[in-house]
Amino acid sequence: MEFEAVIGLEIHVELNCATKLFCDCPNRPGDEPNINTCPTCLWFPGAMPRLSRQALEKAALLCLGLGGELQKESAFDQKVYYYPDLPKGYQLSQAHLPLSRGGGIEVADGQGKKRMLRIHHIHMEEDVAKLAHEMEGRTPVSLVDFNRAGAPLVEVVTEPDFRAPQEAMEFLKILRNIVRCVGSSECSMENGTMRADANISIRPKGSDRLNTKVEVKNMNSVRHVGDAIAYEIGRQVAAVAAGEAVVLHTRLWDPEKKATLPMRAKFEGPCVPDPVVPVIRLSEEWVAALRSRLPEMPAAKAGRLVKEHGLSSRDAAFLSEDADMAVYFEALAAEGVAPKMAMHWLTTQLLPALKERRQDVGESSVQPPRLAGLLKMLARDEINANAAREVLVALFGNDKTAEETVNELGFRQISDAGALEGMVDVVLRAHPAAVADVRAGQGKATGFLIGQVMQASQGKANPKLIKELLIRKLG
Ligand SMILES: [Zn+2]
Repeated sequence: MEFEAVIGLEIHVELNCATKLFCDCPNRPGDEPNINTCPTCLWFPGAMPRLSRQALEKAALLCLGLGGELQKESAFDQKVYYYPDLPKGYQLSQAHLPLSRGGGIEVADGQGKKRMLRIHHIHMEEDVAKLAHEMEGRTPVSLVDFNRAGAPLVEVVTEPDFRAPQEAMEFLKILRNIVRCVGSSECSMENGTMRADANISIRPKGSDRLNTKVEVKNMNSVRHVGDAIAYEIGRQVAAVAAGEAVVLHTRLWDPEKKATLPMRAKFEGPCVPDPVVPVIRLSEEWVAALRSRLPEMPAAKAGRLVKEHGLSSRDAAFLSEDADMAVYFEALAAEGVAPKMAMHWLTTQLLPALKERRQDVGESSVQPPRLAGLLKMLARDEINANAAREVLVALFGNDKTAEETVNELGFRQISDAGALEGMVDVVLRAHPAAVADVRAGQGKATGFLIGQVMQASQGKANPKLIKELLIRKLG
């Protein structure tokens, strides 16, 4: 029997707010343990949570960026369970009336065929405290750090629309770009500011049943999400083929063993409306004002780059992944650099140079006007490509213009036929065998002679002009 996978994702995004969700403590989970705390986020009895306005705005912007519909009314529930990282016995989350419903992300498969992967809803919730399991001498101890308690989270819950690991990976990458673009989170799986859980089940291909699912957690890179889903599909298919039933439970991805391992039976505690945090009511004016603050979304930006600059959709998608990179590219284009040349130099020269120097595009010490100056000299044949690459390196180390740097390094290309002709004559006299080969129709020998003239000019000759001179003299 042929099976297909049914996959849904639950993605936690930690909002980059200055404070926690319900108090004014700094939202800095990595600080020295337990310094960012107050009675509210230590969850003492009687403390009154007050919803952070900034968290609501950042959460709502994220929802709008993902195409969600902000609900006129949303509210917090108490998700009841007891665990040492949640000593008050419940987590404030939005179970019944989420902030936003609907939305989705369009992903393309390898053949470019597009598919909309729908979002069921997006809700806000507070993070729990963090447990650290350590040794005190030979005694194992478990410590609790409340810096993370009450940190502002958003959870994106998708429909079970995914059929393959690649779709989940693509979805996460696009989601990350959108959330970064609206400025609500850095969304890094490596740093834990984005965490994804996958719900996976299988069914005979063509069926529309939803079978028992298994939840997989603990994936801290997009790659791991793909690997874990692929492994889990294979494990379930093998289990069903062996006549076993799939049981509802939670598994952890072990990146070392490249396998999912059983963790615990899935527990869903009750959810009851919280009587303290007021219902959130959003006016149409507030939503409209927020919507007007949305920047250009990555998909729209990619479409515009294709239309305005004639880029391939691949190049446009690459640029729109990083707002700074798109800004840099458009600044080069605005300076009059041909889009193709700008793209080529950005990807093959500037980005590797920045990586080496640990700089971001946005804070590059070679800003667009200086690189544009260099590329325009290259386009006008005033320098050749090899020299231009060296000039770029020099530009990283000085604060001069490209023109000044080219002159200083003496890289200005010799495009004066009179000056070059003398050098060509010398080379032709020195290499009679190569000259004979060219006359006998051997193209390779032309390349050799061009190289010799180049060398004689210390790399400054215009290769196109040398070739013209050679053809004229030997033709
Ligand atoms: Zn607090």
